[in-house]
Amino acid sequence: MSTDARTLFRGATGDWEVVVGLEVHAQVISEAKLFSGAATAFGAEPNTQVSLVDAAMPGMLPVLNRHCVEQAVRTGLGLDAKINKVSIFDRKNYFYPDLPAGYQISQYKNPIVGEGRIVLDLDDGGTREVGIERLHLEQDAGKSLHDRHPNQTYVDLNRAGVALMEIVSRPDLRSAAEAGAYVRKLRAILRYLGTCDGNMEEGSLRADVNVSVRRPGEPLGTRTETKNVNSIRFVEAAINYEARRQIELIEGGGQVVQETRLYDPESGTTREMRTKEEAHDYRYFPDPDLLPLVLEDGLIERLRAELPELPDRKKTRYMRDYGLSPYNATVLVAERDVAKFFDDGMTKLIPLAGEVPPQRFGTDFANLVIMDLFGLLNASDTAISDSPISAEALAELYALRLKSEVSLPGHLVKRVLAKMFQSGKSAEQIVDEEGLRQVSDAGEIEALVAKVVAENPDKAAEVRAGKDKLVGWFVGQVMKASGGKANPQLVNQVLRTRLLQE
Ligand code: MN
Repeated sequence: MSTDARTLFRGATGDWEVVVGLEVHAQVISEAKLFSGAATAFGAEPNTQVSLVDAAMPGMLPVLNRHCVEQAVRTGLGLDAKINKVSIFDRKNYFYPDLPAGYQISQYKNPIVGEGRIVLDLDDGGTREVGIERLHLEQDAGKSLHDRHPNQTYVDLNRAGVALMEIVSRPDLRSAAEAGAYVRKLRAILRYLGTCDGNMEEGSLRADVNVSVRRPGEPLGTRTETKNVNSIRFVEAAINYEARRQIELIEGGGQVVQETRLYDPESGTTREMRTKEEAHDYRYFPDPDLLPLVLEDGLIERLRAELPELPDRKKTRYMRDYGLSPYNATVLVAERDVAKFFDDGMTKLIPLAGEVPPQRFGTDFANLVIMDLFGLLNASDTAISDSPISAEALAELYALRLKSEVSLPGHLVKRVLAKMFQSGKSAEQIVDEEGLRQVSDAGEIEALVAKVVAENPDKAAEVRAGKDKLVGWFVGQVMKASGGKANPQLVNQVLRTRLLQE
């Protein structure tokens, strides 16, 4: 992730700055819809999860789902945002074939969550804050299916009425890479909170991308909005394409029109969809079927107290308690499942390490996860949640390096790890089966040393004559004779005693 805030586009007439704001629609994790009891599971047969409310039958009344409200409040708290104790549901009127009511219930002037922020982790170890303007609750629409019949369109209302959180950023982003980092961080926070699964390929998280360009330091230019972009790669591509298009348009004497556009993944371009509606076109008004939403006393405090440890705090803790670099800490907290694995591993490892403080081995263990385990997982296309080596098993492997009496030589760790990955056996089992325990038995080492010294009388004489450098060579020979298993400190000790004695 490259997040250089100073990324400029070079045009024919000079440099341009791109200004990006994102409106992310995040589907709330909930068994039931925002205003009905219909189910929300992904991939069900069309129109099997539709209540009379979702189908907008006359006389049906919406009933607010308390769980969805709590999910929105928890998300607001996770975004360090102001929670509004009173918010209002409005009708946003427009016609769409998959919107049977002719309006979407949304929140307009009084959203449930106000201003907040997201911290981006930059490549150089620094951070950058992006403002959140608001988060509001609204219903999703249904889906028009154009590919089921040669000359008819079908409508699937399973998604109609599903709760969405629309999370609106400030126009604080200055490059495609920053926008990508923003979506990744937002998705991580939602997943930690368990308020949205973040599966962009299933449409549970999609971004409307607002892009404008300007000369550095000048006022904001006219923006376009590219709708419903459903992957981070596409968000980045849409921004770069749109910035280039707008720069060429302006430099050619044209003007950017405020409009809604569509991203086409096939060509990597955006195209015009419709001229942007103004808010007054929607004739927003408070939904007369719904009272203002008033949060009960104590709800916010209770939900705040129950929040899990989120990525930023976890990162700080890893750096402080385990001595990790900002880079390692950022990599480990980026996905909840990875952080959980590392946490479980450290929880197991710390008591096994006894007197050794976690700052001494935190980085080493982190590298074992990030470099070695990730390498095996990637090569076999396995998710960390399906890792054949559990966090506890990995901790036990690492503990073998720490324990002086069994000490597994560092260079053999990878070999044992690979065998664990294949066989599912424990580190202890493999170390025993393959005879990989480090030899710390003084008698065994003495015998090896004696043999190597006897075989190299000339070099031994040189050491005795003061050529100290050759001790290293002897250590190497003894290590080789032991198949790499001898304890090097002990070898060194025995060698020196022996060579200098005789
Ligand atoms: Mn919306």
